[in-house]
Amino acid sequence: MAKKTVKKQSAKKETKYVYFFGGGKAEGKASMKELLGGKGANLAEMSSIGVPVPAGFTITTEVCAYYYKHGKKKPAVLSKQIELNIAKIEKAMGAKLGDPKNPLLVSVRSGAAVSMPGMMDTVLNLGINDEVVEGLAKKTGNERMAWDSYRRFINMFGDVCMGVDHHAFESELTRIKKKHKRALDTDLTIDELKEVVAAYKIVYKKSVGKNFPTDAREQLGYAVNAVIGSWMIERAIAYRNINKMHGLQGTAVNVQAMVFGNMGAKSGTGVAFTRNPANGDNKFYGEYLINAQGEDVVAGIRTPDPISTLKKKMPKIYKELDAIRTKLERHYKDMQDVEFTIQEGKLYMLQTRGGKRTGLAAVKIAVDMVKEKMITDKVALQRIEGEHLNQLLFPILDPAARLKAVAAKRVVAKGMPAGPGAACGKIVFTAEDAVKWVAKGMKVILVRKETSPEDVSGMWAAEAILTSTGGATSHAAVVARGWGKCCVVGCGALDIDDKKKVIRVDGRVIKEGDEVSMDGTTGEVILGHVDTSSSPVVAGIVEGQKAALKHPICKIFTEVMKWADKYRQINVRTNADSPKDAKNARALGAEGIGLTRTEHMFFEGERIWAVREMILADDLVGRKKALKKLLPLQRKDFEGIFKEMNGLPVTVRLLDPPLHEFLPHDAAGQKEMAKRMKITPAQVKSKVDALHEFNPMLGHRGCRLSITYPEICEMQARAIVEAACNMSKKKIKVLPELMIPLIGTKAEYDILADLIHETAKKVMAEKKMKINYMVGTMMEIPRATLVADKVAENAEFFSFGTNDLTQMTLGYSRDDIGSFLPEYLDKKIFLEDPFATIDQVGVGELVKVGVKRGRQTRKKLKCGVCGEHGGDPESVKFFVRAGLDYVSCSPYRVPIARLAAGQAALEK
Ligand code: PEP
Ligand code: MG
Repeated sequence: MAKKTVKKQSAKKETKYVYFFGGGKAEGKASMKELLGGKGANLAEMSSIGVPVPAGFTITTEVCAYYYKHGKKKPAVLSKQIELNIAKIEKAMGAKLGDPKNPLLVSVRSGAAVSMPGMMDTVLNLGINDEVVEGLAKKTGNERMAWDSYRRFINMFGDVCMGVDHHAFESELTRIKKKHKRALDTDLTIDELKEVVAAYKIVYKKSVGKNFPTDAREQLGYAVNAVIGSWMIERAIAYRNINKMHGLQGTAVNVQAMVFGNMGAKSGTGVAFTRNPANGDNKFYGEYLINAQGEDVVAGIRTPDPISTLKKKMPKIYKELDAIRTKLERHYKDMQDVEFTIQEGKLYMLQTRGGKRTGLAAVKIAVDMVKEKMITDKVALQRIEGEHLNQLLFPILDPAARLKAVAAKRVVAKGMPAGPGAACGKIVFTAEDAVKWVAKGMKVILVRKETSPEDVSGMWAAEAILTSTGGATSHAAVVARGWGKCCVVGCGALDIDDKKKVIRVDGRVIKEGDEVSMDGTTGEVILGHVDTSSSPVVAGIVEGQKAALKHPICKIFTEVMKWADKYRQINVRTNADSPKDAKNARALGAEGIGLTRTEHMFFEGERIWAVREMILADDLVGRKKALKKLLPLQRKDFEGIFKEMNGLPVTVRLLDPPLHEFLPHDAAGQKEMAKRMKITPAQVKSKVDALHEFNPMLGHRGCRLSITYPEICEMQARAIVEAACNMSKKKIKVLPELMIPLIGTKAEYDILADLIHETAKKVMAEKKMKINYMVGTMMEIPRATLVADKVAENAEFFSFGTNDLTQMTLGYSRDDIGSFLPEYLDKKIFLEDPFATIDQVGVGELVKVGVKRGRQTRKKLKCGVCGEHGGDPESVKFFVRAGLDYVSCSPYRVPIARLAAGQAALEK
């Protein structure tokens, strides 16, 4: 009795490392992806729902993890479990591994929890040797196929399992083809294939030092090791890093009975999507080859036929395949990407998985599946990624034209994608040239090492902006994103010589006027022209073209936005500096302005001269005189914005950047300024030098400017309140929120808030009216978040400026992170660029602290975020959890923020 218990217990303890599938049954299921990998889990699922799958088994990802933890050794019980499962395959398929009379061949394939296409190794046709090949020829009646499989197996096994140089096999094949005057592999006769096999065995022995293994079990052992080993090969590691696939425990190994698509006219193989992955159309989409093996379809040697033609060629098989298509979609409730093989008139499914799709297809499929009642709007909403939606808003590089450019090796560099869409134009190196060339009717791309506010007019004129330095919140990125303009930053491979007006990259020279195309979604920089296709969403919703509103793409976009708004619990505002931006953002669903950067208005038209006059002034009188000129211009700007946002809150931030940013730094600019100001260039230079700071980001900027020059704050407060009064008189509803930037102490806030209230009071007395307004502050300095309870005694709202908060918390310059970020990501110090996606545990913690402490003092304190993170889906979800009332982002990110906020509500 006691003995029996012991036995039972030890049996119970043995870890199950192998899961069988086949014959309408399976030990695994789709939800076991972590353990069985995506491929294994889905093969099991297909098998158990009655889809024809060749029998096989999956060795779990735990074996892979064990292998690397134990000095490349597999668990002791594994071989016994494998043996048991080989017997099960043999039973299901009615054939035996290594049996020359009735041979079973197997494939050995990798498959991690997340798909890594083509990154790891595969061995096909395993189990052949000199006797089995004869048996296979007899069994299939296809001697050619048997010998072709044998030579392919020796090549693949040698290459994948033993590291034999693939070229050594290739050169033998070429030699034999030449000898017999054969152009294609398929021209080789059976005898010639036998000659290839003999030659391959010699190549193998020369390289490995041993004969080619004839025992099927031995072959299988090597193949399993090779597949597990391929988890750690360089390209697989690189792929996981690039695609941010972290925390996977390894690959599973799928051993499955081979079926042959190359057994004649009644056989074939193909790949298909259950719907069109490019545009989402609910049509079977794929291709196949008659009399071919899987690798022939992808290898591109023969051109496959579209799946629709299978209907005529093999009507019965097509009907069965089409029924499986419907069955799989209904079962998985998502579009699937499948592989199939037809062996002598019998159909087998070899793989199914969620199909990769373009943004357009993702949105269309989600909307259609809700209409088809396959999924609910909640499920559909969660399936759409921010970037999917983004793709609907911007012109994109025509996919076929892009592929052609890739094939022609015209992609010369890759930077950080910063502004959306795609563009094509002639390159220019200065903002002035951009303006001039555009005035002559040309399309240009402005190329700069980095941009500064001085470049804004050229940036606006250009189709796109390309820089070699800077990161996701650099000047170029922030400005371009705000406009919805294509932009690639930090493209370090470009050696920009703006004196000679050339770019040197990858051994090539691109000259001023040369045409370049850019993809703001991938960061690719491509030589020459690549066609773009435009977005009906922008034409309809932003530009108000009625016909575009009826476009199907516009309709599905509107539907998704409707769902997001139905579930969303926080507001989405926009960062806008002009009435035009405000109008666009409102059309895209913004519910207010979370940040108007007043300094951006200073660069427009003539106002820069008044700003410069103010900076140059030696005393208060001089400064006030210049500010007086600015007042009506600023007031007009605010009136325009208030009018566009009629009834919605508008947060206006007081002047923020250091003053030197408004002065010209080059000799020509300084000369021009001297002429206009009637002083000498030396005097201009001396002012520029006087304003020079070693660390301007930590220098005389933000509220510090208004503390030392209160007249600036006073002018701006007056312009805002006067504009509000004027608009209010015109029956336009105004809700101004005056925001003080970059405070670190309560005292800074109080001094400026008092000045603002005093000014507002004066203006309202002059205008003989009262308007509602609020005064609050940005939370950008870590200290401010820590003393938020004190600041909130007088501040009526907080807006987290997470760009500066990230910069100051991490101590990384937001303009220079590009120089070390790639390595930081590589070494996993950060998994994402912290200026693009909020560092939740560090910077995010300060946001939480700020909100909590602020609301301790003022229970209903309105809190929002206006850093670039406000348009990043993951960050938006974090801000929802942190209890913010709204996020604010650039106009063209508003739909993405709405989507993310809707998703966050569903995740709660
Ligand atoms: C911020 O720092 O997050 C912010 C919004 O201000 P700016 O980007 O203008 O410094
Ligand atoms: Mg800031």
